[in-house]
Amino acid sequence: MDPRKLNVVRFVSVDRMMKLLLAIGVERALTDLATCIEADFRRWEQFDKTARVASHSPDGVIELMPTSDGSRYAFKYVNGHPRNIRDGRQTVTAFGVLADVETGYPLLLTEMTILTALRTAATSALAARHLAPRGARTMALIGNGAQSEFQALAFKALLGIDRLRLHDIDPQASRRCARNLERFGFEIAICPSVDAAVLGAEIVTTVTADKTNATILTDNMVGAGIHINAVGGDCPGKTELHPDILRRASIVVEYPPQTRVEGEIQQLPPDHPVTELWRVIEGSVPGRRSDREITLFDSVGFAIEDFSALRWLAGEAARRGLYEELDLLADPDDPRDLFGMLLRAEAA
Ligand code: NAD
Repeated sequence: MDPRKLNVVRFVSVDRMMKLLLAIGVERALTDLATCIEADFRRWEQFDKTARVASHSPDGVIELMPTSDGSRYAFKYVNGHPRNIRDGRQTVTAFGVLADVETGYPLLLTEMTILTALRTAATSALAARHLAPRGARTMALIGNGAQSEFQALAFKALLGIDRLRLHDIDPQASRRCARNLERFGFEIAICPSVDAAVLGAEIVTTVTADKTNATILTDNMVGAGIHINAVGGDCPGKTELHPDILRRASIVVEYPPQTRVEGEIQQLPPDHPVTELWRVIEGSVPGRRSDREITLFDSVGFAIEDFSALRWLAGEAARRGLYEELDLLADPDDPRDLFGMLLRAEAA
């Protein structure tokens, strides 16, 4: 790097993130991102791992999600406030940082609201590639908010899902989702109930937002051989599935110490067996074992997925010049003379 630019931090704004995605194409971005996440999950043991640090309040949660592979360090700030949509705000927003471990200097600061939707969908589809019934074409998508189109497109790009059955308690949300996905070649049905949506679906994605132990799916809705991609339950006291489903399913999670507190499995005893996704990805544990098995990816979102997303974005933004340079780090000529820098600025 140019030594005069040691203090430069690259910044990817929402505007540049959108330009980057439109240039790459959303499906291609999801596929590339899944490849990055897969590569990082294969080297799982190289990473520092810790359950995210959560600050809970009556209406939501603010979380910090750090990790490092010894060469790069990353963290994400993310919130989850389901009531935000009442006054025009989003449920989930995020930003994040990628830094150099050797110097501790940040390299990249970026919007991560869009990037989170991408990485969540890419991880879900990656898990489903190992867990969903072979040849699956139909997915029920329950909850048609901000994450929903990204989920649909990831399952199309990675698994070939081309039939969607949408349901949301807000019919307008389903209509918007269907409209947004019009040009992507899906056959789409908007369904009046969850029961109707799951009919004939080989994969069921739940991606609703409510800070409660909801019962989006009940046991009788889940037939043999289904894969459930449960995305919306990601906080203590915020779940989507009836516990009877969990007792019948083979459960795959990201990082057990975090998922046992935040995921659907918070409803189960702490020693209930689960499989770690990285082991399925590296091939040491099988994914789906039979046609009749009910598989469940209990997604909560883990820091290594954000690390992968930041690593992918840093490369793409640099290649396409889609970043700004931020004056974020104080950089005195003499590194010990921080105060002198202030005096020189005053004199100038
Ligand atoms: P959003 O508020 O934009 O959309 C949620 C949708 O769910 C809304 O359209 C709402 O009407 C619908 N909904 C609420 N209750 C419902 C019910 N009982 N039945 C059917 N639909 C219902 O939220 P979003 O950004 O799309 O996020 C969805 C969920 O995913 C949130 O709970 C969020 O915390 C979670 N999330 C998880 C991850 C992860 O990594 N697992 C990542 C991002 C978001």
